[in-house]
Parts: sequence; C-alpha cells; structure tokens
Amino acid sequence: MALRSDLSGKACPIARSVDILGDPWVALILREVFGGNRRFDGIVAGTGAAESVVSSRLTMLVERGLLDKRPYDGQGRRRDEYVLTDAGADTLPILHALARWGNAHAPAPDPVRRMRVFCLTCGGEPPSADWCPTCGRALTVETTGWRKARTPEVLVRLAEV
Ligand SMILES: [Zn+2]
Repeated sequence: MALRSDLSGKACPIARSVDILGDPWVALILREVFGGNRRFDGIVAGTGAAESVVSSRLTMLVERGLLDKRPYDGQGRRRDEYVLTDAGADTLPILHALARWGNAHAPAPDPVRRMRVFCLTCGGEPPSADWCPTCGRALTVETTGWRKARTPEVLVRLAEV
C-alpha cells in the first residue's frame, strides 16, 4: 500500500530519499532501532504511533532495504525483530541533522531534555551530523553515542544496543 505519491522514480535523489524517509513515523522508527529498540511492541511504545502505522512502515522499510527481520523467541512464539542494513545505518547522519536542526530551530518544550550526539572516540559533542572535527572520525554506529531527550542521564552507545 502506497503511503502517498510515489517519488521513487524521480531523477532527483532528494525526491527518491524523501519517498522513503519523508514520513515522520519512518524517522522515529529508525531512531528507535538505532537506540536498540528493535521489537514491534517497543517501537510502538517508543514512537507513540498506532500499531497499524508502525506495521506498515516496518514492512516498507524491509521492502526498501533499510531494515532486515531477525527472528527471536518471544515467549514460545517466533517473532521478528528489526535490524539496520547498511542502507539503514547510512541514515544515521540524516537523523543527526534532524536532531541538530530541531535543537536549533524547533525548540524543545524543556531545553534541558534535548537529544545530544556524542563522539565516543574523544567524548566531544561534534558540531556536525556526520563527523567529529576534534578527532577527525566519521560518526558511525560504532563511534556515536546518544543522550536521548527522554533519558538524558543515559549515554546510549549505538554499537552496543
Ligand atoms: Zn571525536
């Protein structure tokens, strides 16, 4: 089921990207998966979206190659959790750019509770979505930590979740 107009065949790469990533629930689902929330019920709780909304977006993200399904035993019943593919992991700087833009131009109701992105190599808070100018490393799943707006006291190391 198409969520809206199909931009997947457009010449412009921004159009093709927003065809997949332009839905608000998609960005929030990816945020949850990067943060280690890989199971359906947890993604529903973390995003606050309806189950049908999460289900349709997860199906699309698997079909479009951003997530893979990985089975696990859920209380005696086989269920799937969702893991990032390489294409999914490549959305990390996009989420960082959204967080930076939101912190700068769409202020949080409580400015103390804002998402912060850290370079795990040097401990700095890079002023960039995709690399750390202090140590010169790219911000990848392996080198990045988040302090989420909901739980700013916890440093989530993305590679360990
Ligand atoms: Zn650094």
